[in-house]
Amino acid sequence: MKIIKTLATVLAVGAMALTASTAVFAQDKGAIGIAMPTQSSLRWISDGNELKAALEAKGYTVDLQFAEDDVPNQLAQIENMVTKGAKALVIGSIDGTTLSAVLQQAADAGIKVVAYDRLIRDTANVDLYTTFDNFQVGVLQANSLVKGLEANFADQKPWNVELFGGSPDDNNAFFFYDGAMSVLQPMIDAGDVVIKSGQVGMDTVGTLRWDGAVAQARMDNILSANYSDGSRVHAVLSPYDGLSRGIISSLRGVGYGSADLAWPVISGQDAEAPSVKAIIAGEQYSTIYKDTRELAKTTADLVDTLVSGGTPEGLDTTTYDNGVKVVPSILLTPYEVDASNYKELVIDSGYLTEADIQ
Ligand code: BGC
Repeated sequence: MKIIKTLATVLAVGAMALTASTAVFAQDKGAIGIAMPTQSSLRWISDGNELKAALEAKGYTVDLQFAEDDVPNQLAQIENMVTKGAKALVIGSIDGTTLSAVLQQAADAGIKVVAYDRLIRDTANVDLYTTFDNFQVGVLQANSLVKGLEANFADQKPWNVELFGGSPDDNNAFFFYDGAMSVLQPMIDAGDVVIKSGQVGMDTVGTLRWDGAVAQARMDNILSANYSDGSRVHAVLSPYDGLSRGIISSLRGVGYGSADLAWPVISGQDAEAPSVKAIIAGEQYSTIYKDTRELAKTTADLVDTLVSGGTPEGLDTTTYDNGVKVVPSILLTPYEVDASNYKELVIDSGYLTEADIQ
């Protein structure tokens, strides 16, 4: 009896050891470094977590870092990942032009590099770029403004519109702006849209580090300098929900959103929970939904292909020139979200829950 029990114990321990060693083996595909820009915006937190989970499920160990929008901080984090022998780096850059030196070190060590959502510029040492169709994001934002203007202010042409751009160190910001202006410029030329402040062009309307407080302060100035004469703002092009919230605060401060002064039509991006709430409340008109779960999953698959020595297929090889080479890209599809379709796109897809927007 005792012998049988001992034998059973030995077998059980052996089986456990086997499971453990299989588990260790499955976890042994190497380390991947994920460098995300900031935790100040919800999307980057979920991007980081989704990527980490997807890569761990494939058997990698993951070092996930957020740099709080501080360029030297992100640089140090990436250097550390290179030193520790990562097999690949997935980088959501803060300033896409500052990584050339560290990416040379990565290339020398044979480390694969994927630019995540934001293009890394001025280096040959970036293997792939995974993102959304960023020009189309801008087109959707501007089309949405026009739809809202026609719905709410059809009888008040020409429409006074103010323009906000994203961070000038983020390549995406130019694509969003150019996409939007491809719709708005012909309307400006036709006299249907007036930029009352006269502030146009990314060098004037850009918002460093996508900072909502900076956008709020600029909107304050625009309002006091250009709209103290009884005229009103009909629409604001905002490239990101965090900026839209700053712009809304500024507008609220001078009486918009009251019975006498209806909210202008305001765009956004990322379908962040507070902004979907603002859309339901009628303060913000629309946002752009980009399924970042899909971006993370697609990126994890491509990292696995690269690290395993495979060749990714079906890439766009014309759109994203980083100044040194055209970086092969995947462009996922963005969607416009407003009060009429947020349930279907954002809630039914499970991107946000009903509880998130209560
Ligand atoms: C991203 C946007 C985001 C913005 C601010 C851009 O690079 O593509 O989704 O709104 O950064 O975080």
